Amino acid sequence: KKWVYLFKEGNASQKYLLGGKGANLCEMTNIGLPVPPGLTVTTEACTEFYEQGKKLTDEIINQIEANLSILEEQTGKKFGDIDNPLLVSVRSGAAFSMPGMMDTILNLGLNDKTVEGMANKTGNKRFAYDSYRRFIQMFGDVVLEIPKVKFDNALETAKEEKGYNFDTELTAEDLISLVDEFKTIYKEETKTEFPQEPENQLLMAVEAVFRSWNNQRAITYRNLYDIPHNLGTAVNVQSMVFGNMGDTSGTGVAFTRNPSTGEKNVFGEFLINAQGEDVVAGIRTPLPIDKLNEVMPEIYNQFIEAAHTLEQHYKDMQDIEFTIEEGKLYFLQTRNGKRTADAALRAAVEMVDEGLITKKEAVMRVDPKSLDQLLHPKFDQADLEKSVPIAKGLPASPGAATGKIYFTADEAVAAVQRGEDTILVRKETSPEDIEGMNKAKGILTSRGGMTSHAAVVARGMGKCCVAGCESINVNESSKIMTVKGETYTEGDYISLDGSTGSVYKGKIKTVEANISGNFSKLMEWADEFRVLGIRTNADTPKDSEVAVKFGAEGIGLCRTEHMFFEESRIFSVRKMIIADSVEQREKALAEILPMQKNDFKGIFKVMGIRPVTIRLLDPPLHEFIPHDEEDIIDLAKDMNVSVTKLKDTINGLQEFNPMLGHRGCRLAISYPEIARMQTKAIIEAAIEVSREENINIIPEIMVPLVGKKEELSILRKLIIEVAEETKKEFGSDLQYLVGTMIEIPRACVTADEVAEYADFFSFGTNDLTQMTFGYSRDDAGKFLEDYKDAGILEQDPFQTIDQVGVGKLVETAVKLGRGAKDHLHLGVCGEHGGDPASIEFFHKTGLDYVSCSPFRVPVARLAAAQAAV
Ligand code: ADP
Ligand code: MG
Ligand code: MG
Repeated sequence: KKWVYLFKEGNASQKYLLGGKGANLCEMTNIGLPVPPGLTVTTEACTEFYEQGKKLTDEIINQIEANLSILEEQTGKKFGDIDNPLLVSVRSGAAFSMPGMMDTILNLGLNDKTVEGMANKTGNKRFAYDSYRRFIQMFGDVVLEIPKVKFDNALETAKEEKGYNFDTELTAEDLISLVDEFKTIYKEETKTEFPQEPENQLLMAVEAVFRSWNNQRAITYRNLYDIPHNLGTAVNVQSMVFGNMGDTSGTGVAFTRNPSTGEKNVFGEFLINAQGEDVVAGIRTPLPIDKLNEVMPEIYNQFIEAAHTLEQHYKDMQDIEFTIEEGKLYFLQTRNGKRTADAALRAAVEMVDEGLITKKEAVMRVDPKSLDQLLHPKFDQADLEKSVPIAKGLPASPGAATGKIYFTADEAVAAVQRGEDTILVRKETSPEDIEGMNKAKGILTSRGGMTSHAAVVARGMGKCCVAGCESINVNESSKIMTVKGETYTEGDYISLDGSTGSVYKGKIKTVEANISGNFSKLMEWADEFRVLGIRTNADTPKDSEVAVKFGAEGIGLCRTEHMFFEESRIFSVRKMIIADSVEQREKALAEILPMQKNDFKGIFKVMGIRPVTIRLLDPPLHEFIPHDEEDIIDLAKDMNVSVTKLKDTINGLQEFNPMLGHRGCRLAISYPEIARMQTKAIIEAAIEVSREENINIIPEIMVPLVGKKEELSILRKLIIEVAEETKKEFGSDLQYLVGTMIEIPRACVTADEVAEYADFFSFGTNDLTQMTFGYSRDDAGKFLEDYKDAGILEQDPFQTIDQVGVGKLVETAVKLGRGAKDHLHLGVCGEHGGDPASIEFFHKTGLDYVSCSPFRVPVARLAAAQAAV
């Protein structure tokens, strides 16, 4: 078996065998760029190493040695040769770039004799011994895990004794004795001599790289990024070139395009007379790459040309490491450059314009999740650098916001009406805060997690939110917050970054997102490729407008209950709930009807002929009930009942398990008059807007939480009855659809029966996940981390759909439903509708559309395109 490849034998497609770094070193060699020759020990050798009980087999060792001889021929140098020693670097490189793996060892091959050879050859004894002492330290640290400080302390002591301030003041003689000391440390720590045989040094280093594949840092990193543990790492052994041989030498790193903006312009830094690690270590300040044109114009031009070649060759932005040795340029690494969302977008679009990549490739180049960063306001960079962070909470909903703090929703709303920018600060938010949340620029809470009320609602609104900021003490009644001993009162300015969770003191300028230009171009391309429709979850005309702007093709879920919370109507809603006779309830409902109808008209007007699915009332009624004593008294007065009686009624509404309680279609079965009112409001609104705008709106009425076909058959009948009555009243021939949410496991497995009474299904995967796992959505946060740590769950099933279980129910329902009804229209309206991994699954399952919150619409468009490509 071939365990070792020379750089001229491999290519870029062998990433899994040679690691990313090795495969690209091979590729660069083969396209004719100057790469110091070397060899790669394969990832398979790593696997073999573990299978042999962490030992290199003779076959592997033989192949390393045989290829080393070839390397010696290629370079005209020899391992251990006193006159012309071969020195190499040993570099780890897995298929995926992985911090946590072993550090690179430079100058391997130095020993007591070759160091003299180096000194003679370069005429620079100091340089030779400095390289040697660095090598001993690196080798000791990396291969034998001798604490670095031991070496550092010895170095510091040597400097102190001589009264030096800088390493550079150490003379050749100083370094010679330091090398002796380092070797003594090595011996004390390992009970062995520092290995003098270069072959030995090399085999020890190769083994150390293989061992580092399974060190704790590497394992943790792989777990974090879902990288399989059985891939193994390769080892690259490469002849050294020296960037620290004087003023005609140097080293640097550069990107073929600007990695933060995407601008097509080589972007990077270099240092004259330095080795690679010096650039990264930040000891000396590197110069911008343009300056290379002044110092070494020929090298500069050669570099720019090669950078262009590499980008054309890889058809992607490259991140390049290079070294100049005495006026000769060498390439040491290239890889696809990491970039910000802005840069990814700009580079992808411009590369299509340049003819470098296809539209399809461009669509694949941008991570849908990263679009979030592009859609929200950001802080002005210069302003941000001057600002003072005061606390850090959870990055609950992205975007940047700046404004005056207010501690109640009402005051925030009033301030907005006065024309102020506001930040709503609460311990935690509740449904009563909705309006204030909607009006504020941002929301800050001191309690609650990523799925707290504030976080969920803010994400839905696309509003910046920092949640669970525990270090801030919020006192709502005295209208102050304190953090780090400082007090902020109502009206003080703060700024929030919902993408990082940072809270800043004072005002910071924000810049609006730009969704035209490159952004809209990429989105159009995505639309060409995707098969899934993209709808949005929206409850207001404003949300609908935002969603349409982002490209939503309809509304997949309009929750009617949010309309019930608004200040002006909650009173009537409460009367409706408290009513103890049908007449009383109908009277209250009659007050609500025109308001609901107006809501629907507003939404229909925005959406035009785009489909709109409206869900009948879903949450348990107690959610609408007053909690404040004052509100209770007011309500009792208005309804002419005693406070005690009202409190009894309220208590009667409490449930032990409201999520599994009196909600969804169960409400409509118990109180059909609610469903009647809502149907009437929907149909009337659709008729009126159709007439006003001269279009044909086809509303979709959706019944939530159906588990048995009987529930749907009864309610379908009721809805049709009311709809037809209303149509007659208006003399209209409006068309409409009646469908159901599929969110109870029983409905999935009896979907053929349910389909009989449904024109469409919309999978409510939030509740479906909750009921399939039996995990409460609102409480699962407490143990999800433990479950992940224990290896039971890989992801939060409320964020990414559990394909094996919940997904199987979806597949079953699709099959049964379509089996019973060919043209059954199918969609998803749970949070998963905006999650790229879940969208890929829904695409495969053959759904017609996904629906997500407005700000996720572009994410969904791109993810749906990627699923289809
Ligand atoms: P990382 O994966 O951390 O970037 P590398 O293997 O790229 O590690 O090595 C780090 C640095 O060491 C390189 O950027 C380069 O400057 C230097 N280096 C590695 N191999 C050589 C070599 N053969 N000659 C000169 N410098 C080298
Ligand atoms: Mg590197
Ligand atoms: Mg539900």
